[in-house]
Amino acid sequence: MIMRVCMDTQPGGANPNEDWVAGTPTLAVVLDGLSTAGLSTGCRHGVPWYVAHLGGQLVAALADPDWQLSDGLADALERVAGLHPECDLKNPGTPSATVAVLRHRDGILDHLVLADSPIVFEGPQGYSVITDLRVDDILPEMRAEVEQHETHTSEHREAVQRFVLAQRQVRNTAEGYWVAAADPEAAEHTLTGTTSRGEVHAAAVMSDGVSRLVSEYEMATWSEAFATLRAGGPRELIDTVRRVEATDPTGRRWPRYKSGDDAAVAFCQW
Ligand SMILES: [Zn+2]
Repeated sequence: MIMRVCMDTQPGGANPNEDWVAGTPTLAVVLDGLSTAGLSTGCRHGVPWYVAHLGGQLVAALADPDWQLSDGLADALERVAGLHPECDLKNPGTPSATVAVLRHRDGILDHLVLADSPIVFEGPQGYSVITDLRVDDILPEMRAEVEQHETHTSEHREAVQRFVLAQRQVRNTAEGYWVAAADPEAAEHTLTGTTSRGEVHAAAVMSDGVSRLVSEYEMATWSEAFATLRAGGPRELIDTVRRVEATDPTGRRWPRYKSGDDAAVAFCQW
């Protein structure tokens, strides 16, 4: 039985989309590039370039079904670093991304997540969410400061920049949290696992720009989100997120980094 993947991705505003999604008969991949908040990165290529190349290299590495997902990620990270050696890859703001991968092989589903792009399984017992929220434990006081301000204010923008600068100091260190960046060591810190395909009716791999409809805004249940995916496809689910965000354009009800975040979703059925 082959996996059928439907997908879409949309930017959250006027800036280039920093999310990336791919589907193949065996893979669903979502990457969510981390915001640079306008700060320097040491890379002249930018986050959209980074996620496109990391995604492409990841799909290529995982063409071999015998590879562990984390080994495929380590290989892809090394290859992408090799594509821009002229950039300062030691810069703590070097382009980086969350990673979520679902692979179907021989009746088995392998998953890998790194940071907060979740994979949601729909099974006979309901919904299970696989995500890596280690980033949420970091710098809670600075996060709270960002959330005090409405989006589109200078106070908000400055608080986000301070927060991102502080995050960079602990990003990809033992004291902090792990994301895909220039160092393949991040692949050792992924959360991985395996599920029997027979226990899963459908699965959704998505960036937090989509999952927040359920997990943060609490404006839908997973059951409703999957019903939307079935009825209207990934685009309809993203449009639903946008309609909800339009009711709170300055982030008073749901404090956030931007009014609308980039969104990507891959919906997998068999
Ligand atoms: Zn570069």
